[in-house]
Amino acid sequence: MTTRIEATRLIPGRGNVVDNGVVIFADSAISYAGVANGAPETPDADVVSTDTVMPGMWECHGHFMGIYTANIDEVWTTRPQLAAMRVTADARRALHAGFTSVRELGGLGSFLSFAVEEGQVEGPNVYASGSALSMTGGHGDVHSMDLADARRAMIRAWGEDNVVDGPDEARAGVRRMLRLGARVIKIHASGGVLSQLDDPHLPQFSKEELEAIVDEATRMERIVAAHTHGKRGMMAAVEAGIKTLEHGTYIDEEVADAMIENDVMLVPTRWVIEFLMAEGEKRGMPEYAKKKAAAAAGQHAEGIALAVDKGVKMALGTDIFGVGLWGRNGEELALMVDCGMTPLQAIEMATANGPDTLGPQAPNTGQLVAGMDADVICISGDPSTDISLLGTPDNVTHVFKGGTRYKG
Ligand SMILES: [Zn+2]
Repeated sequence: MTTRIEATRLIPGRGNVVDNGVVIFADSAISYAGVANGAPETPDADVVSTDTVMPGMWECHGHFMGIYTANIDEVWTTRPQLAAMRVTADARRALHAGFTSVRELGGLGSFLSFAVEEGQVEGPNVYASGSALSMTGGHGDVHSMDLADARRAMIRAWGEDNVVDGPDEARAGVRRMLRLGARVIKIHASGGVLSQLDDPHLPQFSKEELEAIVDEATRMERIVAAHTHGKRGMMAAVEAGIKTLEHGTYIDEEVADAMIENDVMLVPTRWVIEFLMAEGEKRGMPEYAKKKAAAAAGQHAEGIALAVDKGVKMALGTDIFGVGLWGRNGEELALMVDCGMTPLQAIEMATANGPDTLGPQAPNTGQLVAGMDADVICISGDPSTDISLLGTPDNVTHVFKGGTRYKG
């Protein structure tokens, strides 16, 4: 079966909008994408007419956790079997919202990726980190338990112990994530908001630990993604060779320059900050997190604006973590336009830039280009002039992943 999409406008992901565009695919790859004039004849094709055709979007920082509250401790008090059932619905929500790829940075994503690949769960392609490596007492440790229980809780919930100290353990931690099927290595290189006792300003992991993690990951052809808020943590992570910086709250000129020089991308996750400020209270966000979120919120928006201004390369990530929140991922694009991007820059961030957050593990997708995977969505309206359209799943009328139709 050949599919032919005829669109008022084709947004290729990278590059200019094409008026009167056509996209054709017969199997898992795109065979033509461009102006209608030059398109080959396809007499037997299934024809879809739409306002806008664009690549399927990439969520580059999400968590399939299967919890309802804004209190991460719910992970440890929820049976993992139940959480796993719940995330299958979140996977479907993401796909139907136009997200055909997800880089999952801590949660059940590695297991979900297998179930999606087997065709048993309808969802995006998932590229997961397993858990996220943390030093003892770091952002990924569970501060409400003794350490032995914290390790046990993590093994029970997401499959492997994530707490590592010293270069040798750090290296072993990378290997534990690989045995979960990790496609990217996630670490916590500073304190965080939704953890009790650590300070987002302070760096986590020593230089030797960071270098061991990067060395081991690089050898296994994985890049390292580093959760970091404070400046010292960001500089240390960038100098150690991480390739994506997550959140980046206290970015300044010096950090932005170092990122550009070292080819490091920013995944800013504005959505979660806005969400916690607006809805955290009614969703049981702990008192300590409220304080930390409020302290970071304004600075975070300014940091993103500075990074946009400096031309730091970015990919879209929301830090979405809860049941039923998945599907709202597209709200991030309008937030990026609020921070100074043009709509087309936000779309490039959400599509063409996504695969680059996986380094050598990147699939051939993210753009409407012949030969690339047929991950294609149709939009009612024109997101190049009204970016907020992409925040509402109902505006995503058709979703194709690998040439297979999942919506429309
Ligand atoms: Zn996160």
